[in-house]
Amino acid sequence: MKRRHFLGGSLAVAATAGLSFTRPARAATAADLPAVSRTGAALVLRGSDVADLRARLRGPVLLRASEGYDAARRVWNGAFDRRPVLIARCINPQDVVAAVQFAAAQDLLVSVRGGGHSLPGYSACEGGLMIDLTLMGSVQVDPVKRLVRVGPGALLGAMDREAQVHGLVVPAGTVSHTGVAGLTLGGGVGRLQRKFGLTVDSLVAADVATRKLRRRHRLRVPRA
Ligand SMILES: Cc1cc2nc3c(=O)[nH]c(=O)nc-3n(C[C@H](O)[C@H](O)[C@H](O)COP(=O)(O)OP(=O)(O)OC[C@H]3O[C@@H](n4cnc5c(N)ncnc54)[C@H](O)[C@@H]3O)c2cc1C
Repeated sequence: MKRRHFLGGSLAVAATAGLSFTRPARAATAADLPAVSRTGAALVLRGSDVADLRARLRGPVLLRASEGYDAARRVWNGAFDRRPVLIARCINPQDVVAAVQFAAAQDLLVSVRGGGHSLPGYSACEGGLMIDLTLMGSVQVDPVKRLVRVGPGALLGAMDREAQVHGLVVPAGTVSHTGVAGLTLGGGVGRLQRKFGLTVDSLVAADVATRKLRRRHRLRVPRA
């Protein structure tokens, strides 16, 4: 097998099929929430703005009192016990864009959670918005083009399983429950590295949502 028989996928945003959630009812009297800004300053989120965010996302937006909040904020490294003021459980790219725009408009501290395996616990933040991508774990293999497209919540094990059905492999890490996105952002070392290089060497494109853009953009990685 030649190097670059893998195409990395939508590391920031990707469509996910088959998930649906009931849109939470807009809270008429939502309370204001104390939160933390990007610079660590105290700020207050207006209850009406939070209600707007909850109405805009297809996925659930969890508050500290919400069912499932503690499970959603948990990360691999249990030494970090951070409590975001909101957790946006995105289920599609539009949710990701909406969450990024909300954080930018509010100047709110943000963390992004893929596989949750950041050793310093960067995927959870204290008092900010956690953009939780774990529900976007799709993996699609194109065996003809020898490409894999992954959602930003995809884990290594799922990517390996799908690729191996077609006799393909992605040079990646050694632990199946590590996130593809976070690992690739860090380079990605593993058992196939000497033959095929780092995971990021095989990345050809990513859909990216930034705070300044109103929608996602595809970045293509130039090949040597
Ligand atoms: C048990 C274990 C085994 C490991 N084995 C290996 C290995 O074999 N090879 C190797 O190279 N590394 C390995 N690592 C390190 C691992 O690759 C990094 O910790 C990586 O950052 C984890 O990615 P994640 O998506 O699981 O974690 P997360 O905590 O979700 O994300 C890690 C970082 O990337 C950011 N991030 C994640 N997804 C996105 C996104 N879509 N958009 C923007 N930012 C994003 C997060 O905000 C965070 O800062 C291992 C780590 C652990 C805990």
